[in-house]
Amino acid sequence: MPEVVENTIIIGSGPAGLTAAIYTARANLNPLVFEGLQPGGQLTITTEVENYPGFVDGIQGPELMDIMRKQAERFGSRHVYEFVDKIDVSERPFKVWVGGNLHLAHSLIIATGASARYLGLEDEEKFHGRGLSACATCDGFFFRDKEIMVVGGGDSAMEEGNFLTRFAKKVSLVHRRDAFRASKIMQDRLLANPKVEVLWNKTITKYIGDKDGQLTGVRLLDTVTGEEADVPTEGVFVAIGHTPNTGFLAGQLATDDSGYLLVTEHTRTSVDGVFAAGDVADTRYRQAVTAAGNGCQAAIDVEKWLEEHVHG
Ligand code: NAP
Repeated sequence: MPEVVENTIIIGSGPAGLTAAIYTARANLNPLVFEGLQPGGQLTITTEVENYPGFVDGIQGPELMDIMRKQAERFGSRHVYEFVDKIDVSERPFKVWVGGNLHLAHSLIIATGASARYLGLEDEEKFHGRGLSACATCDGFFFRDKEIMVVGGGDSAMEEGNFLTRFAKKVSLVHRRDAFRASKIMQDRLLANPKVEVLWNKTITKYIGDKDGQLTGVRLLDTVTGEEADVPTEGVFVAIGHTPNTGFLAGQLATDDSGYLLVTEHTRTSVDGVFAAGDVADTRYRQAVTAAGNGCQAAIDVEKWLEEHVHG
């Protein structure tokens, strides 16, 4: 058993985790952050971030995360680039296993985020930021006057499809069936949009790129006739849902049906002393700035909780 019991361990290193690190470090709690295998989180796979306040000319996602980490380290936050294998929150101090080592903590902040689901096609990663995106709010602006596609048939696809018509000349909505699962009102809004065409019963089976690796088209399979055709497009937005990164919790914290952590009183999870921040508990906003704000809330909640339960 380790002798040291950390005040707080933060799991995750996106805007939520790193903002929680800044705040807990400035509160002299000497936080330990496990950054995971994708340090910086989802922002490190986007290119330019133009909607994070404070950067008039925008900033590259990885650079923004680097700045946040340095800011946290300046106040004594410790960062480990490893993945948390499992935790045990059945009693305090809480146990956190990382690569065979056990760490103990009075409190935890879970900020492991969510991952946008992609189609799982060959070369998919190569097209990220080169015509392929899973975030219309982040990247829509780059598709002004272009002809693009949105994949999916849920509320996200309806919302993103409609939103993208503010920029794009035309949006083709690609759906694998002949009916949407989205709510009626969202469907109606999309279907009434003159810039949207729905491609029913179609799936993308291949991305096509030019010699510079920029997406220029897709291969579309008709799920009814089985026919395939190569179709030009200047962008593809995949909107087939997100998966919260909660698998390592092994069901110890209450979640909704999709696996997102349930929180009450802002950032408290179902276990006293365990807090959650960012996309791992957010099915609605999923923005860097909201995750950062939520990380701040979790840090303040931890500080107060430690005062009441440990240091008081
Ligand atoms: P979702 O409801 O799970 O819909 C996912 C869609 O993607 C489905 O239409 C599904 O097709 C399709 N899909 C899944 N895997 C696919 C694949 N491999 N290839 C092609 N298509 C695939 O996800 P969501 O739209 O992200 O919504 C998630 C939750 O957030 C929902 O509860 C939704 O109501 C909510 N939400 C609400 C709002 C709002 O109210 N403003 C906005 C966004 C999201 P099938 O239909 O054939 O299964």
